[in-house]
Amino acid sequence: MGYFFHEFKNEALNKAYELLENVTPLKFDCGTLCGSKCCKGGDGSGMLLFPGEEIFFRHRNGFTVRKDPATGYDEVICTGKCNRSDRPLACRIFPLFVYSVKKNGKTFSGIAPDTRARGVCPLCDCGINYSKEFERRLRIISKIFENDSEICNFLIDLSHTITDFGAFSGTQLQ
Ligand code: SF4
Ligand code: SF4
Repeated sequence: MGYFFHEFKNEALNKAYELLENVTPLKFDCGTLCGSKCCKGGDGSGMLLFPGEEIFFRHRNGFTVRKDPATGYDEVICTGKCNRSDRPLACRIFPLFVYSVKKNGKTFSGIAPDTRARGVCPLCDCGINYSKEFERRLRIISKIFENDSEICNFLIDLSHTITDFGAFSGTQLQ
């Protein structure tokens, strides 16, 4: 079944889903390069959900929502296969991430490789160029998110965690 954009109360989420409905990191299915490595996390690892996103997955076949013990945010566990229109936002933006920081009371966001993708995703490890349209849309989304306080707080918090992970694993942000 396809996704109905009106299902989220949050318009920023609706817009992000819409912008990344048919646009992916490469112009072809990058899963063919790596055997869809990022879909093979196993039962113990899930994708963190943006605030308000859990409504869609809570009663959806093939998905389990739970609290991520490390961050306290909702995360969704999948079976390793899904309809493309059902992908959570974390999967739509991977292997990039919307990094956010607060300065003088205002949130600034930008996109960069997700440090957690190193060692998993060949697009990061081999320096393959992303589709320009994918990057362009992700930048638009990062600006949309700057105006949503709940999403901003989530992204700021996660940006710290991911950056720490990057420092820990020797990965530097670009
Ligand atoms: S690991 Fe990277 S290349 Fe492979 S499917 Fe995921 S995003 Fe695409
Ligand atoms: S939800 Fe879909 S795209 Fe995301 S990890 Fe699971 S199978 Fe892959």
